[in-house]
Amino acid sequence: MYSLASKLYVHKDYADFPDAPARVERIESAMGQEAENFGDLDIPDLIEERGWQDRRSRRFSAFDTTPDQDVVLMLSHFGEHPNLAKLTEKLGKDKPVTGLMRQLLGLRNMNLFSSGVEDFHKPRKDHVCRPQWQLFTMEGCSHQCAYCSLGGVIAAKVNMDYYCDHLGKLIENNPWQQVFLTNSNSDTPILEPEIGHIRALLDLVKRYDNRHFVVHTKSANVDHLLEHTDHDQRAIMLWTIATPSAARIYEPGAPSTEERFAAARKCYRTGYPVRIKFKPIIPMKDWREEATLMARLALDGMKPEVINLLTLTWMDVTTLRNAFNPEDLDPEAMEAADTAKDDMTDDHLRPFPHAFRATVYDHFITEIRKIDPDVPITFSTESLDMWKQFGERLGYDARDYICGCGPQSTPGCRRLEGNPWKVIAPMSWDGHAIEPGGPGRSA
Ligand code: SF4
Repeated sequence: MYSLASKLYVHKDYADFPDAPARVERIESAMGQEAENFGDLDIPDLIEERGWQDRRSRRFSAFDTTPDQDVVLMLSHFGEHPNLAKLTEKLGKDKPVTGLMRQLLGLRNMNLFSSGVEDFHKPRKDHVCRPQWQLFTMEGCSHQCAYCSLGGVIAAKVNMDYYCDHLGKLIENNPWQQVFLTNSNSDTPILEPEIGHIRALLDLVKRYDNRHFVVHTKSANVDHLLEHTDHDQRAIMLWTIATPSAARIYEPGAPSTEERFAAARKCYRTGYPVRIKFKPIIPMKDWREEATLMARLALDGMKPEVINLLTLTWMDVTTLRNAFNPEDLDPEAMEAADTAKDDMTDDHLRPFPHAFRATVYDHFITEIRKIDPDVPITFSTESLDMWKQFGERLGYDARDYICGCGPQSTPGCRRLEGNPWKVIAPMSWDGHAIEPGGPGRSA
């Protein structure tokens, strides 16, 4: 695991779960400290004392020195939580139980994701992404990306057998989903192999035909994965990789661009399905030259199953100017963002307008195709309009493209057969059918 000079906590009841103590001991040993115990009712005080909520509420800054994230080893919990009412009472009627508190209580385990669209049978026009159950075994991250706010605390589950018992039911109840994205709010290899989440998930999904999970990462900590020679392509390794200058300045806690590609190559050679996202493409001053390098690195000694593209998004121009030094960015990009400011107030893909993003994609596609004529190139969470513009050139449309972490994008698949918004028939781990807009979308 990473070397984290942070404080370590563990839920006081961890020994009730037979598989948890070994995980706790391995993390304690790696961090060189004994974990401090906490109980459910201590959570609000810990959040306050350690500033976890505050640090989760703001983006990382690439320009200040942020202390390492605390590590909390916690317990997943399914069904009604015995201490939720007590916690509500402790907080008083004017203070809600926050999302972070629910997370630390172990109540966030599986979530039916649908791009913020209540009716999961339709795509969102400015965020084309397939509806699916996403899995959470840990949340929080230490990579300090300037466009992200997952700091303060890394919360990781130590009762994975209990978690996997419920995950097995979810898998059985949802045959329409073959691939499960894990830890979209974290980066699993940060605590591996000590936390043992990847091993536990491998052991579980291997009990089912054609079921896989995605490890979504910026990490180069993968040597432990090479030892899982029985992986059977059940773990799909998906890297998000920014260009070298962007990674150096704006992802200061993550490995360099070159280190990430080297890690991807190691996994590729060991037979893992490897997928690459050029995401976010931060339009740095030299992004055109860097696109050429990125294409070369992505195809040097490996053939990813797919290369996904997405520019920097999900923030307004003011945030862009605060989180990034405009001097580092392409003046054309800044001008495009400033000009589009008023037109993009409700656009999920702001700050860069469609025309500028299309210019970026056009160049990246050209550079990739100079090296490889047929590696699948697709968008990640772009707009329906972008799909209409580039569909013919890419050879896919918004329904049938293969993507990095889609629920039907199984290893080796080159094109989806069914419409991902129509095949979905979600059912919770405990057997409740979920209707569009209905309750029960997270457990
Ligand atoms: S690696 Fe991902 S989760 Fe971690 S800080 Fe960067 S964007 Fe956030």
